[in-house]
Amino acid sequence: MSDPVVREPVVVIHGGAWAIPDKLSSASVTGVCAAARAGYEVLIRGGSAVDAVEAAVRVMEDCPAFDAGTGSVLNTKGEVEMDSVIMDGRELRCGSVACVQNIKNPVSLARAVMEKTDHTLLVGRGANEFAEEVGIQRVPTDSLVTEDAREEWRQFMQFKTTVNVLFRNSKSICRDGGHVTSAACDTRGHDTVGAVALDRFGNTAAATSTGGITAKRPGRVGDSPIVGAGAYADNESGAVSTTGHGESITKVCLARQVTHHMESGMSAQAASEAALQKMAARVKGHGGVVTVGKDGDIGMHFTTERMAWSWIKAGKLHYGLNSGENFVIDV
Ligand code: ASP
Repeated sequence: MSDPVVREPVVVIHGGAWAIPDKLSSASVTGVCAAARAGYEVLIRGGSAVDAVEAAVRVMEDCPAFDAGTGSVLNTKGEVEMDSVIMDGRELRCGSVACVQNIKNPVSLARAVMEKTDHTLLVGRGANEFAEEVGIQRVPTDSLVTEDAREEWRQFMQFKTTVNVLFRNSKSICRDGGHVTSAACDTRGHDTVGAVALDRFGNTAAATSTGGITAKRPGRVGDSPIVGAGAYADNESGAVSTTGHGESITKVCLARQVTHHMESGMSAQAASEAALQKMAARVKGHGGVVTVGKDGDIGMHFTTERMAWSWIKAGKLHYGLNSGENFVIDV
């Protein structure tokens, strides 16, 4: 029998595209690097791309520096409502959950939707009931809420900011005389997390997880759990996870745009840039994407001030936060 190993495994991670404040920068970078290592570990042991993206996203859901799982931001009522998606590029199978509460790792619930139901998306109460059915335990709300998230919510409610300011260049749009001060704008968090992977067998997968955006309306669902917007994976092109202003990302189906460009022959990097450019031009939206092409080609781009990102390929870990950065170490 011939060796089924055909690809150099790759994992690419993001920890949210926005104006990440300096006080969070080191935790964000450490978190995305830990996630990349967790995903890569799965891949080099012969695990699947789906296993790798789930493992990577779980690491970031458990890290309070990110707005996903523990550390999720709060809606206007001060509650946690989380969204997540996972997609397997082999047969385009996918599972999502939206507006779920009291779940430690929404990405694993999304995976259960993909593998154990005939559906692709479960929301709210139904998603929570399904979690109980498959043995995913409820956790107390307080265990998911950090003091930073509470403080951010208090300030946000005071300034009555709109979500749109979060993803633009804060230096150009924040204003003291308007709805939001520059200090408020710079420190509001929404660091959604995501991972894409290519395994040794040439299979791709993508996953994204978020608490959404601070002071969102109860019941608001962003782009993250929407297949084609928050993530997409197709072995015939590649896998993509997105972050940024959810309403803009949904309007342009950002993740699917990237794979569409790759189908027409663009590299993962060119496709990522073109899709984000279109989002800026058509709906004035900002954000970021991480991409892996079906042949292991990597794309990473953001139009916000910063995005924590990392990737591992051929035993080298690359990471960065600011535009133009690319630090490299051996794993
Ligand atoms: N896209 C997410 C949302 O709008 C937020 C983010 O990516 O930071 O819910």
